[in-house]
Amino acid sequence: MSIKLEHINYVYSEGTAYEKHALKDVSLEIPHGEFVGIIGHTGSGKSTLIQHLNGLIKATSGALYYNGENIYGENYNLRELRNQVGLVFQYPEHQLFEVNVLQDVCFGPKNQGLSPEECEKRAREALQLVGLKEKYFDHSPFDLSGGQKRRAAIAGVLAMRPKVLVLDEPTAGLDPKGRDEILDQIAYLHEKADMTVILVSHSMEDIAKYVDRIIVMNKGSVMFNDVPKKVFAHYKELESVGLAAPQVTYIMHALKEKGMDVPTDATTIEEA
Ligand code: ADP
Repeated sequence: MSIKLEHINYVYSEGTAYEKHALKDVSLEIPHGEFVGIIGHTGSGKSTLIQHLNGLIKATSGALYYNGENIYGENYNLRELRNQVGLVFQYPEHQLFEVNVLQDVCFGPKNQGLSPEECEKRAREALQLVGLKEKYFDHSPFDLSGGQKRRAAIAGVLAMRPKVLVLDEPTAGLDPKGRDEILDQIAYLHEKADMTVILVSHSMEDIAKYVDRIIVMNKGSVMFNDVPKKVFAHYKELESVGLAAPQVTYIMHALKEKGMDVPTDATTIEEA
């Protein structure tokens, strides 16, 4: 099971004055079960890229395979793809709207045509996975704290039991405590729920501690795609596109804490 992109290009508003070549010849593969970070500046193409993964937008050119099947094929079932690849948008709590948390999380499974009992079962399971206590289930989603709202929104996608969970800047706007809690929770989900997790961020700190592999986007192209240690070894190039420099020391510590090797010149960086 995997997601494979081959030479994907995406152009917004093609042929108009607003034309924007947002993805340029992007090729990459994400095997099942991996925890992948996608990092890059605002405007580097991260959101455009992830919206391709569940077929929400269609590449201008190139091919995308989900479990070996071309999702642009004539008879491909995009609805099923959207059930399997769950996308959590930025500020997902803006989409909470039901009378209580449980109902809200039930919305997705209900749309899948499942029975009310099955919907509730899945919703409870999803809320448990994101660590939201049962006492909140009958609260209005609007009465929750920022971090809790975000958990509820993530649960809404998990209740569909996706095989791949894609999160676009899940920590945006949260305080440091809320940020750490959400990231720890996502790491826990990855371990417990046998899911591929794709985490989009513009923050190296967020990504460095957790992921197996980092895809660095720059101006619509893949700049690096490798294990963290190898990506950070290119710290000078990362710095040249304004991505890493002040955090390099922090990242090296994070890697060491994880018991990972650090690039040999890391000590030089720490002393600097
Ligand atoms: P990121 O998620 O890394 O911030 P995006 O994928 O949102 O980057 O944007 C990539 C590029 O495409 C940017 O230059 C952005 O301005 C442009 N873009 C994004 N969405 C649209 C849109 N709906 N119409 C036109 N251009 C867009």
